[in-house]
Amino acid sequence: MTRLTLEDVVDKYIVDGHANPNFMLLTAVADTLVGDVIGAVRRKECPFCGRVFRSRSRLKAHLHNRCCGTMYAGVVGYVISRYRRLKNRVRRGSRYRLELPGKPALRFRSMSELGEYVREHPEVLDEV
Ligand SMILES: [Zn+2]
Repeated sequence: MTRLTLEDVVDKYIVDGHANPNFMLLTAVADTLVGDVIGAVRRKECPFCGRVFRSRSRLKAHLHNRCCGTMYAGVVGYVISRYRRLKNRVRRGSRYRLELPGKPALRFRSMSELGEYVREHPEVLDEV
């Protein structure tokens, strides 16, 4: 079994629409930050140059090449860095605690529940 990187998880989510159940917080962060990019890809449209493709697989090849590929890798990297910043604020005890600076800690039963919170309160991404 090959080791899945965070880049793979984000890429599969954006291009294939596959939300890995072990990374629900990461997909919530992706939707919150780059929902416009994800929307374009789901319409088979390159979010960077606007070119429309016949199939998702052709767009996928396009997004892994040259200019648009560089921008796409930047988007994936951006999602991961913001996800890591958020995750660094999460403490694991009997529950997951999100500790934001200058605020009482928020508690969640699971990372999925924290992901739902992020979708409803996208501003938390600016607080970490
Ligand atoms: Zn393009």
